[in-house]
Amino acid sequence: MKLILLGAPGAGKGTLASQLINKLGVPSISTGNLLREAIAQKTELGMKAKEYMDSGNLVPDELVINLLKEKIADCANGYILDGFPRTIPQAKALEEITSIDVALSVEVPDELIEKRMTGRRVCAKCGETYHLENNPPKVINACDKCDDQELSVRKDDEASVVRARLETYHKETEPLKAFYEERGKLREMDGTKPVNESFELALKVLGV
Ligand code: AMP
Repeated sequence: MKLILLGAPGAGKGTLASQLINKLGVPSISTGNLLREAIAQKTELGMKAKEYMDSGNLVPDELVINLLKEKIADCANGYILDGFPRTIPQAKALEEITSIDVALSVEVPDELIEKRMTGRRVCAKCGETYHLENNPPKVINACDKCDDQELSVRKDDEASVVRARLETYHKETEPLKAFYEERGKLREMDGTKPVNESFELALKVLGV
């Protein structure tokens, strides 16, 4: 299956993508993860992307489209795209290289997104993520796996950045729903349910 996951940042696309990988037998591509890797490795792309990401803005289309093209070339049997496309020009560029089957939009209201994202904590050492309410660590603010490692807030999960990211989502990315609706490819699902229920719902909506 050639699947796009649409939805606001924090809607649960990443979690859903990792659950769908086994079920659909295709790899997932997250442009957000690829960009974070590029930043960690201090590549030229990473240096260019960092400022946009830290302030809650989108990385310029040209950079992300080139990154995606490279990765999608290895996905002849299908893919799950998590976080791409995020703009109409990106969707048009994608149309030129591949024909998707479904664009699944994971719907979560802004208030819940803000609550989810500002409660997220990450271990800088092993990358494990926690949530203050939904998935707290055993000891307050400490990683379960790494001794003495304090948890931190990802820069772009800070409250003001989350609001900027939501604004960007509504302005730049939400119009993609109409884009795929016109092409008969859009499906929508409720993303407010607990993780396993959301997964079951996604399977039902996708008919797999
Ligand atoms: P994510 O992990 O998908 O929430 O992405 C984190 C950040 O990476 C976003 O807030 C953007 O700054 C950047 N990013 C990821 N994917 C894209 C994309 N398709 N277009 C532009 N910027 C992106």
